[in-house]
Amino acid sequence: MNQSALSFDLQHIWHPYSSLSEPVPPLHVSHAEGVRLTLQNGDELIDAMASWWSAIHGYNHPVLNKAAKNQLDKMSHVMFGGLTHNPAIDLCRQLVALTPDELTKVFLSDSGSVAVDVAMKMALQYWYSIGVKSKTRFVALRGGYHGDTLGSMSVCDPDTGMHHLFSGMLTQQLFVDRPACQFGELASDADMAALEQTLAEHHQSIAAVIFEPIVQGAGGMYFYSADYLRRARALCDQYNVLLILDEIATGFARSGEFFACEHAAICPDIMCIGKAMTGGYLSLAATITTDKIATGICEGEAGVFMHGPTFMANPLACAIANASIGLLSQSDWRTNIQRIEAQLSKNLLPINDHPKVANARVLGAIGVIETKSAVDMHKVQKLLPDLGVWLRPFGKLIYTMPPYIMSESDLDKVCDAMIAVTEQCT
Ligand SMILES: *Cc1c(COP(=O)(O)O)cnc(C)c1O
Repeated sequence: MNQSALSFDLQHIWHPYSSLSEPVPPLHVSHAEGVRLTLQNGDELIDAMASWWSAIHGYNHPVLNKAAKNQLDKMSHVMFGGLTHNPAIDLCRQLVALTPDELTKVFLSDSGSVAVDVAMKMALQYWYSIGVKSKTRFVALRGGYHGDTLGSMSVCDPDTGMHHLFSGMLTQQLFVDRPACQFGELASDADMAALEQTLAEHHQSIAAVIFEPIVQGAGGMYFYSADYLRRARALCDQYNVLLILDEIATGFARSGEFFACEHAAICPDIMCIGKAMTGGYLSLAATITTDKIATGICEGEAGVFMHGPTFMANPLACAIANASIGLLSQSDWRTNIQRIEAQLSKNLLPINDHPKVANARVLGAIGVIETKSAVDMHKVQKLLPDLGVWLRPFGKLIYTMPPYIMSESDLDKVCDAMIAVTEQCT
């Protein structure tokens, strides 16, 4: 490893949620191909993380490379104010077709957190525009994660998001406990009680409920009942509150349906997508809403929706997203996700009996080992090159959401590495 490069990194460069006083030395990647990351020293790691849910087709994919190169020769970017282009039109056409029928109006933005802020703004501007000015707060589930900007952060879990650090700045939202009912179970009246009470008491001040449907990702890798989601949709209607579904992690087949809300056969008023949309190539996200919300906003005081990022609808990102969604749609993704789910279940669920394991669970192409004590990240980082697998546990969670192209033998190695980390690093 080039020592001066690494020492510069340690002294000068922030990594996600990292310390510059006691940095955990990062692994130095030189290139990536298929499901493998190659380090500067030549070590190869099987990527169990798909670069945080996004690289679903693997790295250096010929079809995505070609889409990028073709678009690069035409234009990599033009502003979206007053201008339009085929990459954006083609992408939005696909998104309107793939998302539930009522979602017809697409707002493209740079990243997931921004897409959530945009969704919150849409909800606020909708109620203001139709003359209901009291509806300004949001309800979220504890254990949720929706992003790192101040708006999206205000609806993240208040404890793990350390809201007290930012109390002067963050809007105080309403939180309800995440449902105890598991995926595959029905939700009882008791399961719905917390949400129902909050809505009954505060609906006049609530603009929207925001959930990650079925899978809570970075807030705890937790899977919950589709019936809960279905009944939550009904409660939102009953109390005249909008439903925002954050499908940034779950979108594009990760949970076994193309969008996780399809497990519950419901449609949100506003949906956020991102992460896997460009196959992990570039940052791009979308916030999609209904005719009703769009009309409400556009016929109100401002007459326009008040948002417009500089790099909105970046053509390069849109062209790659088109190619990535095309690859997925043309594949038998359902059977493939079921293949991954079956193998993760076979390899990981038996470890539920292990003395260091609190719970092991699998849904779609997501496999999780929740340990009894926290994972030592310094130890993990040292062990991974020997295991030949890239994992990035947090807290008590050792998990994988592999690229969908991962072979059976590589997935076996990923599961073995997760078990080794459980045994040696907790
Ligand atoms: C990752 C994530 C976000 C934030 O997306 P960024 O692109 O990192 O800003 C929001 N919501 C969910 C559910 C996510 O998993």
